[in-house]
Amino acid sequence: MSTPLVVQKFGGSSLADADRIKRVARRIARERAAGHELVVIVSAMGDTTDELLGLAAAITDEPDPRELDVLLATGEHQSATLVSMALHAIGVPAISLTGRQAGITTDGRHGKARIADVEPRRVHAELKAGKVVIVAGFQGVSAGAPDDAEITTLGRGGSDTTAVALAARLGAERCQIFTDVRGIYTADPRLVPAARQLSIVGYEEMLELAHQGAQVMQPRAVELGWVNHVVIEVLSSFEDAPGTHITEDPHVEQRNKVRGLAHDRNVAKVTLVEVPDRPGVAALVFEPLADAGINVDMIVQNIGHGGATDLSFTIPQVELAHARRILDPITRQLGFREVTTDTAVAKVSIVGAGISNAPGYAARMFRTLADAGVNIEMISTSEIRITTIIAEDALETALRALHTAFELERPETVEAAAAG
Ligand code: ADP
Ligand code: ASP
Ligand code: MG
Repeated sequence: MSTPLVVQKFGGSSLADADRIKRVARRIARERAAGHELVVIVSAMGDTTDELLGLAAAITDEPDPRELDVLLATGEHQSATLVSMALHAIGVPAISLTGRQAGITTDGRHGKARIADVEPRRVHAELKAGKVVIVAGFQGVSAGAPDDAEITTLGRGGSDTTAVALAARLGAERCQIFTDVRGIYTADPRLVPAARQLSIVGYEEMLELAHQGAQVMQPRAVELGWVNHVVIEVLSSFEDAPGTHITEDPHVEQRNKVRGLAHDRNVAKVTLVEVPDRPGVAALVFEPLADAGINVDMIVQNIGHGGATDLSFTIPQVELAHARRILDPITRQLGFREVTTDTAVAKVSIVGAGISNAPGYAARMFRTLADAGVNIEMISTSEIRITTIIAEDALETALRALHTAFELERPETVEAAAAG
């Protein structure tokens, strides 16, 4: 029988300095001593990615996307080599590989590439040679002739996706995501002290939490885990404590329908003031944004007055400058009065399978926010979530009030029964 393979991913905070890297190496060595083959995916150390982005921004407002990806990929190269060296230092054979060497090809969308294929020949060869394989996360190369291939990155948090893609392709027995909290909670534990750790969360609900801003997992990673049936275990790299399993959730029918809260500060609200109220205007505004790859999220069009109407929508805050450059000429062309923007807003969502079929959740959410004195600026709903836009400075108040109102601090009876 072959040795069971384990994929482990370590996030930036787990690798923030030399001591932490050495600690990660000791953890890897323990796992190997327990008889596992290991493929380890690493993020860049600490805030390296933010620092590299800052450096680029200090050079130019509009860094070339290709050069930016080559720059960002160095963060993960750095940490991969250092983890490998830390393993050598304690007598564990190891080798670091870039995304390309690990066989990860992607589409060509710099900064938000999607994995197209994983061809891990080199990974298999190094495992066979008895080595722990350290893979630089968050990166691949665009498919095409080897001479034309470009380094791409997978978007913020993309190392999660590298890990799940490799786990799926290699048929790993376990896929463990080590981070700076014990697992998935009912809300971001840094903002909601009463947040409760979940022992299990279903793919569908986790994907929605991730999409709505829970940064603990990149949405793409959850999606890949779901379609490939990879059970993802999220756990702390700082303490030995049971983590959270992201998997099919057998308890969906039986429990509190709200599974958790998600929030996102990376939101900007754009309002086009006094847009002419006639057919085709929305298409003229949103088509060029879509062509530019700008993800428009919530859209609200107010009732028109005197042939004009206000149109508001949200986009990721990091895309705001880009969106303005696109909208300014359209403003002149369409003759609307002005574009106003607000970055001091945040998105707050309640997430749970079946929310939309159960009456009362929306009303309870709005009543709770009202009683907490939080004004709702926009609302949107889907099958499994209700989302509001509020002022950013009301975020903590809103999250804590909603956490209490939906009784999220209370242990699930199904979980308690399973544990007992
Ligand atoms: P890493 O560097 O390990 O990839 P991230 O910073 O990307 O870590 O993700 C971990 C962080 O996600 C936590 O520190 C926590 O603040 C945040 N987070 C947001 N929502 C949740 C949630 N529901 N459960 C756990 N952590 C969450
Ligand atoms: N280093 C990248 C980031 O900060 C990728 C990752 O951490 O997963 O987004
Ligand atoms: Mg992350």
